[in-house]
Amino acid sequence: MKQTEILVVGAGPAGLTAGIYAARSGHKALVLEKSFAGGQMALTSEVENYPGFSEPVSGMLLAQTMEQQAIRFGCDVLNAEATGITAAPAGFEVATTAGPVAAATVIVCSGVKPKLLGVPGEKELSGRGVSYCAVCDGPLFKGREVAVIGGGDSAIDEALYLSNIVARVHIIHRRDEFRACPFAQQRLRERANVTYHLSCVVESVNGTQRVESITVKNLKDASTFVLPLGGAFIYVGWLPNTAWCSSLLALDESGNIKADDRLCTSVPGVFAAGDVRNTPLRQVATAVGDGALAAISAHDFLIGKR
Ligand code: NAP
Repeated sequence: MKQTEILVVGAGPAGLTAGIYAARSGHKALVLEKSFAGGQMALTSEVENYPGFSEPVSGMLLAQTMEQQAIRFGCDVLNAEATGITAAPAGFEVATTAGPVAAATVIVCSGVKPKLLGVPGEKELSGRGVSYCAVCDGPLFKGREVAVIGGGDSAIDEALYLSNIVARVHIIHRRDEFRACPFAQQRLRERANVTYHLSCVVESVNGTQRVESITVKNLKDASTFVLPLGGAFIYVGWLPNTAWCSSLLALDESGNIKADDRLCTSVPGVFAAGDVRNTPLRQVATAVGDGALAAISAHDFLIGKR
């Protein structure tokens, strides 16, 4: 069985930073990477508020650079997904798709997954016009009309990205005000090919083989209309990836892992960092700070045990 001192589950900005700090603290560190480095950050077209870059930087490039940095300090990266965790005599045993890993400490950085809208047609047409990733799928809709559903930073940032590619972006938001940062909102307002449908919700996504239209309801007058388009990009929030560890760790009422100000979870020796925990701010900058602190807390735990 693979063995390590610090096992980091997840290779987003929190996990990769934890890997950097764990390895630099002199520990044997292993980061589990489910599919590719960077998590949600890697799926972000442009990161423009992460300090150190005067111009926007591609999320994918930032992810690859963080991963190379972790590897340079001696951190190992294993392409595998964690599927369970149990307490073991010398720490923990984490079940993964590449076999079990024994670890003295575990840092949970498993991030989030997109929240579904929950309307008819969404699941059926997922991957056939319904998408949760503009960077991955946006280019497929070059010259066509698409909808972006949501009013947070993700929706506005990715609408901005899509407006460079598609003929028209329809923003569907359930309120008249956006929660996204005003700077991004202003930039989107300057785009001529964006149409706003405010106080509106999607009732269904329609199509046989692929998305052909969405049915939208105006919440102010209860009228409905059908918007013909090729794609629907859904950005209505995220859910923490905790199915693999929720039997061991305490979660808050929203399903986030409870962690204290040293990022210790309810189980000594397990730490949580980044979007998966009960955090008031979900940014690359805060995830990176979390990763550093969680690794140092894991280091202190190991030193205390020695
Ligand atoms: P979010 O802030 O939770 O926003 C979700 C949006 O979806 C809200 O506008 C919400 O409407 C809407 N919504 C939720 N459920 C809905 C439903 N069932 N039907 C219709 N609309 C629904 O999620 P996010 O935009 O993905 O951002 C998540 C976190 O990451 C935030 O902390 C954000 O600041 C951060 N983030 C930051 C950046 C950046 O700094 N550039 C980029 C991406 C994400 P209401 O507004 O009415 O609640």
